[in-house]
Amino acid sequence: MAESAFDVVVIGSGPGGYVAAIRATQLGLKTACVEKRETLGGTCLNIGCIPSKALLYSSEVFDEARHGMAIHGVKVGEVGLDLPAMMAQKTKVVDANTAGVAFLFKKNKVEWIKGAGRITAPGKIEVALNAGGSQSLTARGIIIATGSDSMPLPGVPVDERSIVTSTGALTLASVPKRLIVIGGGYIGLEMGSVWQRLGSQVTVVEFLDRILPGMDGEVSKQMQRILQKQGMTFKLGMKVTGATAGDAGVAVRIEPAKGGPSQSLVADIVLLAIGRQPLTEGLGLESAGVALDERGRIKTDVHFATNVPGIYAIGDVIAGPMLAHKAEDEGVAVAEIIAGQAGHVNYEAIPGVVYNWPEAASVGKTEEQLKAEGVAYKAGKFPFTANGRARAMAMTDGFVKILADAKTDRILGAHILGANAGDLIAEIVVGMEFGAAAEDIARTCHAHPTLNEAVKEAALAVGGRAIHI
Ligand SMILES: Cc1cc2nc3c(=O)[nH]c(=O)nc-3n(C[C@H](O)[C@H](O)[C@H](O)COP(=O)(O)OP(=O)(O)OC[C@H]3O[C@@H](n4cnc5c(N)ncnc54)[C@H](O)[C@@H]3O)c2cc1C
Repeated sequence: MAESAFDVVVIGSGPGGYVAAIRATQLGLKTACVEKRETLGGTCLNIGCIPSKALLYSSEVFDEARHGMAIHGVKVGEVGLDLPAMMAQKTKVVDANTAGVAFLFKKNKVEWIKGAGRITAPGKIEVALNAGGSQSLTARGIIIATGSDSMPLPGVPVDERSIVTSTGALTLASVPKRLIVIGGGYIGLEMGSVWQRLGSQVTVVEFLDRILPGMDGEVSKQMQRILQKQGMTFKLGMKVTGATAGDAGVAVRIEPAKGGPSQSLVADIVLLAIGRQPLTEGLGLESAGVALDERGRIKTDVHFATNVPGIYAIGDVIAGPMLAHKAEDEGVAVAEIIAGQAGHVNYEAIPGVVYNWPEAASVGKTEEQLKAEGVAYKAGKFPFTANGRARAMAMTDGFVKILADAKTDRILGAHILGANAGDLIAEIVVGMEFGAAAEDIARTCHAHPTLNEAVKEAALAVGGRAIHI
């Protein structure tokens, strides 16, 4: 069969891959994107960010109708759950998003090749087509954007029925009475919250002695307190040694991480959410000579180039935070680099958001990191209890914390726990991209009454001059 020749072939159509493909065609490069899933958009659109946020929002509406309206003087009758309708809404959201990427591919003339891609030599890809048969492609630049998969745990056999990953947790047919979540990271907490709001008793088992490792310690602590108030139970510093599914449910064996007697917990469903691992299998990397790092990620330089000329990699399959917007930014940068431009990603200013309620959002350094690095810093903090808009919304949990260099006042990090924290953090991310000092945010006029005023007040607090506290 004749080879199809492209300037760029992207393997994988997640937020890294599809964005890279679109940007490459914008830059005049003839581009194909190989995707083995039936729909575009990768983990993020199909089984990650989008369906989880759809369920988080729908379950929030349910929870609000049950518990959050009386305070505003709104009386509702008995509130019931129609889980199939909630799931159908989630599916509709996913379908609209994946179809949106297909539309963008058409509009930008990205050729979508449906099948599994394998690199046979530098510049050469063989696609095992979903429809049967194969297709050979050649490209000046190959971008690997194959993403990640959930991390397995020995002794915990996933069947996606009673022991599930996040993928199974997004499609449960009924509300489990008891749900055990293994892993206190953002995926476990978000999916735990969904089912807790819908009626499950949720127990989170975490190996470390804190949830949300990597986030600011104060945010983690308060988030845990709030989730406990909402009814979640935490077993921290506990190691899961095995899980067995039986007629009476799933028995999960746990023991203290530091050693000690083991105990058994029982649940109807167990969600394994201990992290994700890069997906490199079947790509032909070994024969192409593409090097991996010690954690199985594809090794790249600052220009996303692997050790093999003409082969690049981006997104979850390389180092860095496994986040959709990080993958997207790398997609833009790598396409620009292949086109001869100066694509670049600033890893100092990548926000991270946890979409529980309230949300937690973070950018830059945590206090723990600054202390460990011996950086002299000032912290400014402002609680939402003192913010007029938060009071009006009856959502006063949480705070804004801004960390700035003690000498220069340059913002080094910010951490927000509270309503709409994921949106509020954007102001600080922009500020950090422009090298802002806390003073710059503090002297910027913020509309009143808004939640953003808490950001301004925290910036004022860095200089010891918050007005409203
Ligand atoms: C439950 C959940 C919730 C999440 N929520 C968020 C969130 O709120 N915000 C956020 O920023 N991130 C979130 N993430 C993480 C986010 O989904 C990933 O960081 C992001 O999808 C990574 O993008 P990517 O392009 O690197 O890869 P992916 O999105 O994983 O896409 C890779 C694609 O490559 C395809 N592929 C793999 N191998 C081949 C092959 N050989 N040939 C052809 N195709 C192949 C796969 O089928 C897949 O479609 C979440 C993840 C999960 C699981």
